[in-house]
Amino acid sequence: VIFLQSLPKAELHAHLNGSIPIKTILELAQKYSPSSPLTTEVADIIEKLKSGVILNDIFDFFSLMPAIYTLTSTPEAVLTTTRAVLQLFLNPTSDGAESPQCTYLELRTTPRATTHMTRERYLTVVLDEVEMYPATQAALIVSVDRRMSDSDLEECISLAIEMKNRCRRVVGIDVCGDPRSGDMQSFTQHLARAKGAGLGLTVHIAESTNNTTEDSLALLSCRPDRLGHATFLSDELKILFFEDIPQPGTECGSLSESESPNNARTNGQYKPCIEICLSSNLLCKTVASLDAHHIRYYLKNNHPITICTDDALPFRTSCLGEYSLLLAQPPLGLGLSRDDVARIARMGMDAAFLRPRD
Ligand code: IMP
Repeated sequence: VIFLQSLPKAELHAHLNGSIPIKTILELAQKYSPSSPLTTEVADIIEKLKSGVILNDIFDFFSLMPAIYTLTSTPEAVLTTTRAVLQLFLNPTSDGAESPQCTYLELRTTPRATTHMTRERYLTVVLDEVEMYPATQAALIVSVDRRMSDSDLEECISLAIEMKNRCRRVVGIDVCGDPRSGDMQSFTQHLARAKGAGLGLTVHIAESTNNTTEDSLALLSCRPDRLGHATFLSDELKILFFEDIPQPGTECGSLSESESPNNARTNGQYKPCIEICLSSNLLCKTVASLDAHHIRYYLKNNHPITICTDDALPFRTSCLGEYSLLLAQPPLGLGLSRDDVARIARMGMDAAFLRPRD
C-alpha cells in the first residue's frame, strides 16, 4: 500500500455523478425527503447503492443515474457533490496521515439543465469548486452524452469553449452515455470544433458489443487524444494506432497538432492513451475476467494506458483499489511487477490534458 500511495497517479476518467460518496448521497436523500418524499424507485436505488449494486450488464448501470440526478438537481446539491468528490480524490484520507487517492484529477461531468439551473450555472458551480484546487491538482472535462440532440451538443461544446476562453479550468471534451444510443457521425463536426478551440478530446469507444465499427470509425476520425474503455475495438481499427497522424486538411482529423493541449502523438504515430477501468468492466460484465482483460493487449504492445475508477460509487472502488488490482497475484489481480505499475502510473500522468508535470 505504501508503494502505491507514494506513486504519483493521475485519475483521468472519473464521472462526477458516478463518484459521489455514499455518505453524501444519503445526506442529500435526507434533505430531499422533508419537502417532497422520494419515489419508491429512487429509494430502492439508494438502498442498492448502499448495500452494493449487482449489475446484470452494462445497461443496468445507466438505470441508476436518474435516482442520482433526482438528488442533485439544484445548484446547492451540485456544489455539495462536487466538493465531496474532489475531497474524495484529492484530500488526504481521514486521519491526515495517508496521502490522497491521486496526485492529479481530471474530473468529467455532463452539463445538466434542470428546473433549478441552466447548463451554464451547472458548469459554473462545478468549476468554482474545481478551481479551489491548484491547476497541478484538478481540472474539468465537459462530457457530452451520446443521446444529445444537435442543439444540445452545440450548447455544451460552446459552453466548454467559452469557459476555456475565459480562463476557466476546462481542459477537454468527453463523449459518454449509453453505448446503444446516438449517431456518432453527427457528433464529429462538434468534436472537431472543440479540438480546434484547443480542448483535449476523449471518447468512450467500443465499450459494448452494441458499438458498431462505423460508430468507432466516426469517433476515431476525430483522432481523440484518449479513448475510454476501447474494450471491443477490432483489430482492423487498432491498425490506426500504427499510422502516421493525419495532416491538416482531412475530414475531422483536420486540426493542427499544436492545437491539442496534449495530443496523442508518439514518434509521429497516432497513440491515444487508453483509459482502463478494470472494476467497471468486470462489474458491468463487458470483460469476463482480469485474465481476459484488454489491458493485457495494450501492455504487450507497449501502448499508453492509464488506470481509472470510472464510477467509484456503484463500483465501490478507488484509485488505490484499481492500482492494487495491477499488483495482486492472479486470479485476484494481474500480478504485474512494481516497475510495470510505476511505468503505468507515469503513462497516466503523461496523458493528462493539462500535463501536470510540465
Ligand atoms: P455526470 O456526467 O457527472 O452526470 O456522470 C454520470 C454520467 O456519466 C452518466 O449519466 C453517463 O452518461 C456517464 N457515464 C458514467 N459511466 C459511464 C460509462 O461507463 N460509459 C458511458 N457513460 C458513462
